[in-house]
Amino acid sequence: MTSSGRNTFASAALLARARQVTPGGVNSPVRAFNAVGGTPRFITSAEGAWLTDADGHDYVDLICSWGPMLLGHAHPEVEAAVLDAVRRGSSYGAPTVPEVELAEAVVERTSVDAVRFVSSGTEATMSAIRLARGFTGRDVVVKFAGCYHGHVDSLLASAGSGLATFAVPGTPGVPASSTELTLVLPYNDRAAVEAVFAEHGDRIACLVTEAAAGNMGVVPPEPGFNAFLAETCRAHGALFVSDEVMTGFRASRQGYWGLDGAVEGWRPDLTTFGKVMGGGFPAAAFGGRADVMAHLAPEGPVYQAGTLSGNPVATTAGLTTLRLATPDVYDRIGATAEVLKAAASQALTAAGVPHTVQSAGTMFSVFFTEGPVRDFAAASAQDLGAYAAFFHAMLDAGVYLPPSAYEAWFLSDAHDERAVQTVLDALPGAARAAA
Ligand code: PLP
Repeated sequence: MTSSGRNTFASAALLARARQVTPGGVNSPVRAFNAVGGTPRFITSAEGAWLTDADGHDYVDLICSWGPMLLGHAHPEVEAAVLDAVRRGSSYGAPTVPEVELAEAVVERTSVDAVRFVSSGTEATMSAIRLARGFTGRDVVVKFAGCYHGHVDSLLASAGSGLATFAVPGTPGVPASSTELTLVLPYNDRAAVEAVFAEHGDRIACLVTEAAAGNMGVVPPEPGFNAFLAETCRAHGALFVSDEVMTGFRASRQGYWGLDGAVEGWRPDLTTFGKVMGGGFPAAAFGGRADVMAHLAPEGPVYQAGTLSGNPVATTAGLTTLRLATPDVYDRIGATAEVLKAAASQALTAAGVPHTVQSAGTMFSVFFTEGPVRDFAAASAQDLGAYAAFFHAMLDAGVYLPPSAYEAWFLSDAHDERAVQTVLDALPGAARAAA
């Protein structure tokens, strides 16, 4: 049993078994529920908006595999396309039609001229940074505190002691030499960006940012901030790398760029994609300006490769997902998000719980602190105990939220009236539990 009322005997037994053979019993740390306590649920199946755990409990899924499941779980058309692909062999290590079609779909929807497929968002940002360094002949990378770009050594960095000083490793196992070329700045802080470019501009290969931050909760860039970053990079001969692993094909059909650069008339030099682009399978990509991408092997000198890159099953899942993700899908998800945002805020207000709801396109999150939250320092002011109580009360009522206060809540097109009503029914009690 856990602090949640539903029994978790089967999940607890599976966790004990998993711990014998896997650190913490999980294959990605946040799944262990460390931030909220209790027993992580072992999921046995999923359909539409719902997950079923090993104890037979159903949950409305507000994680959606941390973003990818835009259409919901086991979507019949995605499933059929994937099964058909599997029957034709799961991997050839040679070029295929689905990867060309997926590349065309990505190019059609976004600002990039060309893409290269990889298998995870981490690989995408790691490769984009290598390409930026190879293209510019410079080494320094600028990033923002609270933005996550995967577990790339040089990006698992914490800010050094002063604004324009180089970073220190954010985890044991990352050598100082890997982060000493990384500068970490506060998000949404133009003066900090100006200061580091003034001091180090001729050494900066690229600035990498989430197109809209989603990994400290949802913190959108302030109006004009991304355009300012693009312009600052251009003025100093550095590349602007926009990480759309989370926001790509999720914040809007064109990702966050569709709500920002496409409207304001600027574009990143490189963009990274993952999550929705893989339709629930391991597919990710980096792409950008044709002249920059031409620096990649075999056309250019910058080496990058992958045994399963462009895998036909994963690219078929991604392609089918993107084809089905028509503008009305985003309209429906956006409308559902509005309903849940309003209801969450109303319930927390009624219970007297300080909170802020923030969004970026169809993505949103609820911060357990007074807002506005514009950077990681503000996001870190959250009442984590209140979130843990809220999380467990929601879980008891059949709603599976991210087991961390620093995450976006994800919806799918399968979140129908029954799923939404389950969340609406759960909110007032959970808000009272958090008070
Ligand atoms: N970039 C962003 C913005 C992400 O949110 C993530 C993962 O959450 C990554 C990169 C890393 O992607 P992956 O977990 O597929 O390696």
